[in-house]
Amino acid sequence: MRDYQIDMHLNTERKQKPAFDQLQFGRNFTDHMFIMDYSSEEGWYDPRIVPYQPVTLDPAAMIFHYGQTVFEGLKAYLSKEQQILLFRPSKNMARLNRSNERLCIPKIDEAFALHALKQLLIVEKDWIPTSEGTSLYIRPFIISTEPYIGVAPSNSYRFMIILSPVGAYYKEGINPVKISVEQEYVRAVQGGTGNAKTAGNYAGSLKAQEMANVDGYSQVLWLDGKEKKYIEEVGSMNVFFKIKGEVITPALNGSILDGVTRDSIIQLLNYWNLPLVEKKISMEEIDQAHKDGHLEEAFGTGTAAVISPIGELFWKGEKLSINNGETGPLSRKLYETITGIQTGTLEDPFGWRIEVASEVVNN
Ligand SMILES: *Cc1c(COP(=O)(O)O)cnc(C)c1O
Repeated sequence: MRDYQIDMHLNTERKQKPAFDQLQFGRNFTDHMFIMDYSSEEGWYDPRIVPYQPVTLDPAAMIFHYGQTVFEGLKAYLSKEQQILLFRPSKNMARLNRSNERLCIPKIDEAFALHALKQLLIVEKDWIPTSEGTSLYIRPFIISTEPYIGVAPSNSYRFMIILSPVGAYYKEGINPVKISVEQEYVRAVQGGTGNAKTAGNYAGSLKAQEMANVDGYSQVLWLDGKEKKYIEEVGSMNVFFKIKGEVITPALNGSILDGVTRDSIIQLLNYWNLPLVEKKISMEEIDQAHKDGHLEEAFGTGTAAVISPIGELFWKGEKLSINNGETGPLSRKLYETITGIQTGTLEDPFGWRIEVASEVVNN
């Protein structure tokens, strides 16, 4: 870890906190944020924790024009013993650097970024909500800041971490959602940026989501960009199916985002000795399994919702109802196990849960 000093500029005034039992997703932000800048001459410099505030940038800053940017998403929890807990945060920092590499953004020091995050969490500890289903969502991100409207990698960047106390991602909670299989638009292609967490992927997905919403569906199921046959993801989540006792998830192929929740579920299923395969799977196979009465459960997975059961798939004019539109036993068990490990109410045989030491240490 590089030997940086994090400058602390703390607010003496604190915002009024929202009602923690009525939180929406991603609408409220805490009192402070972490910032660090990059220039080609200095590398990453001036790490600091400052009051949460707007960012002033030149209108020519490259982020506004060509979207050279990456982000991450993870959560902090407060245990019954008032310990700040994180879930596999090193995976997020490593993935941030994989996204950086794809977007030609200079790498960050992963250990230092995690250290900085912990310091910010200690400062903002009383923003971590504790009601069922709530947590403090963490959004690290990097933007290109050089004022230049040529298409090239920027020479300057800003890394920021902001925090947002959140309730359930879907207002339906762990209840199943209806999903429309997207036939026209695609999210990502082989060789594109689908396996990086970068803004353009999400901007490009809004149209399909908007159209699905109009038809009464919460999200879309994305098919592959080439043949529009093979299943990739659901909304901005990874996707799993349980067919005749076997759990199937699309194999990582370069256009699917490598989710931390996805990886955790694979490890849990292996630990429970339940059959799990990662493979290329077509929508036709899902339809056939449904016709044969073998499609037992389907669910999306991601940090925000953890597990989001799929109650219905709309495909080629047909409505495929899954488990009578109810949450299946495996979906529920996975949700309870993962959230139990995250919040400290269950044992963690994998060493996934990280306790944040309670003092601000300036290394
Ligand atoms: C972030 C994300 C996921 C889920 O990743 P987690 O690490 O489990 O939160 C899945 N798909 C897309 C497109 C994502 O952006």
